Amino acid sequence: MARNRSVTPPAKSPESAQIALKEVALAARAPEPRAPLFGAHMSVAGGIQKAVYAAHAIGFGTVQVFTKNNNQWRGHELTDAAIEAFRGALAETGVTSPVAHTSYLINLASPDEALWQKSIDAMTVEVERCAALGIEDLVVHPGAHLGTGEDAGLARVAAALDEVGRRTRGLSVMVDLETTAGQGTCLGASIEHLGRIAERVREPERLGLCGDTCHLFAAGYALDSDAGYARMAEDLERIAGLLRERVWHLNDSKRELGSRVDRHEAIGRGKIGLEAFRRLVNDPRRLGLPMILETPKGVSDGEEWDAINLRVLRGLAQGKPPRRRSNKV
Ligand SMILES: [Zn+2]
Ligand SMILES: [Zn+2]
Repeated sequence: MARNRSVTPPAKSPESAQIALKEVALAARAPEPRAPLFGAHMSVAGGIQKAVYAAHAIGFGTVQVFTKNNNQWRGHELTDAAIEAFRGALAETGVTSPVAHTSYLINLASPDEALWQKSIDAMTVEVERCAALGIEDLVVHPGAHLGTGEDAGLARVAAALDEVGRRTRGLSVMVDLETTAGQGTCLGASIEHLGRIAERVREPERLGLCGDTCHLFAAGYALDSDAGYARMAEDLERIAGLLRERVWHLNDSKRELGSRVDRHEAIGRGKIGLEAFRRLVNDPRRLGLPMILETPKGVSDGEEWDAINLRVLRGLAQGKPPRRRSNKV
């Protein structure tokens, strides 16, 4: 069942109350069974509830969705029937802690006033949709500064998030800033960037962090080594007081360390390799957080790639070497 974060900071609560509320929110995230919670990004074609059933059919315990078309500004209206179908699917399957990913058009760092405002409007709608669906985590890429520089870009993102926060006050949705590969002028290639955004916003307790293994690797975190993993964990720890890990994206990388190119690959089949994922899924600091696959779909030798990846991850979590096949995962 979805864990409810029923308490949201009121408009002007004292700082101590805000901290207490943050602790409530974090406690609410604490998982019951301390086991990895694996999921995948699933298509919402034919209805958003379809994603939940598809995830459940593979054997996942959680799911990620787009709540609207990811490459259009305007989404279809989210009807009461769709909301009911989605919530019903969660209840029926036991799929929990669903995550949403924002549209790729949103750029909260844009120096272009019109695009920036449009991004704030779209982001606001995304938060509202998540609230209606009972989705507590909305993952967003921080954005691209398009030449204005890192500082200006980060300030722009923080200002946009403040405005979204003002418009969506009272809604129990965390906006989770995702680590990025750092392509072009994209912000978020370092964990520190995300911390700097959280430092600038009025309500950092409404923000979380989504770590993406492929992006971190592309951005130069050598997750394939103990030292590289430790460096990442330290960077996360340093900003944990401001920005808590909420979600992970588990993707291997087609491209090499530090490539700054974002190309996802099946778990263990790319340049990151199995050991990084073994570290991650067995790390008690991250146990119970939604761990979402965004790896290529399709079928190999009669088995869905999502099922193959899940089997590999479960093997790693159980300390076993991945087996070749099994019918039911
Ligand atoms: Zn991702
Ligand atoms: Zn990616």
